This record gives sequence, C-alpha cells and structure tokens, in this order.
Amino acid sequence: MATTRDYTAEDCSLARSLEIVGERWTLLIVRDAFYGVQRFADFAAHLRIPRAILSERLSLLVRSGVLTKSPGPGRRELYRLTDKGIELFPVLRTLVAWGDKHYAPRGPRRHFRHADDNGEVNLAGVCQDCGKSLAVRDYLVTTGPGAAPLDTDADVVTRALAHPHRLLDPITG
Ligand SMILES: [Zn+2]
Repeated sequence: MATTRDYTAEDCSLARSLEIVGERWTLLIVRDAFYGVQRFADFAAHLRIPRAILSERLSLLVRSGVLTKSPGPGRRELYRLTDKGIELFPVLRTLVAWGDKHYAPRGPRRHFRHADDNGEVNLAGVCQDCGKSLAVRDYLVTTGPGAAPLDTDADVVTRALAHPHRLLDPITG
C-alpha cells in the first residue's frame, strides 16, 4: 500500500509538495486562509471538518511554514499565511478554475476580481481592465452564479463571503 513515506523516498519536488498540500482538507484550509479565515472555530464551522483533523492539519501547515500561529484576542490563536503559503495562490487559483470549467454546471461560485477596478483577473494574475499584475491582496473575491443563497444560520465565513471581500483581509465575524 502506498504511504506518504513512499513519496518521501522519491527525490521529486511534486511529491514533496504533495506531502504538505496533497490532502483534501489541507488545500481547503489554505483556501480559507486566503479568504481571511484565521480562527480555529471559523475554519471548523466553514469547512465542517472534524476538530481533530483540523487540529492535525493546522499543525502540519504551521510546521511546514505555510501558516503561522500567533496569540489573538481572547487568547484564541490566529493562523495566517506566511509568504511561503501565499506562494500557493496560483496553484489554488488554477485548481478552482479547472473545477469551474468542468464541475460547475451553474457557473462559478466565486469570481476573483481586481479590488481597484473590479476587472476580471486572468490565471496569470493580470487584470483584464487595467493590465496590472496583481498581488494576492489586490484581489476581491465576489459571488458568482453558482453561489448558494445565504442561509439565515450561515457561519461567519459564509456570511462574510456573501459580499465582495479582499483576499487576506481577516474575517473576524
Ligand atoms: Zn485592474
């Protein structure tokens, strides 16, 4: 049976990257961190992930230098992407675009736009309106046609993302 150890033996950058982000929950956690989710409880509520798994995955991401953990208000820890973590953005963006193309019959759930002019941003990170090459903080995430209507009992992250939201801006509830 294949285990992550088998991959470790291979001197392959893809295998090494997959050791960190090749697990389903991990990339979803990283995606939420780009949205600005920072608190354990908010990741748990938005992803509906078992707390033990969330705890384990967050630890892995901190150990791997993808997230930092620091004390926040009310003694709650805050998780934030490091520069190394932010470098994963093009990977996520491309995976989302692939899913939108092949698995989103009602259209994308979310669009990525340039915060300054609402221009569409291509997969290379270039705004189609002004031609600027964008940093992650220059993006707005907005709802697309595939977004579900907002439930009254929606979690704080879902509620925040129902409106245009700048990537990496903390979602504080
Ligand atoms: Zn622009």
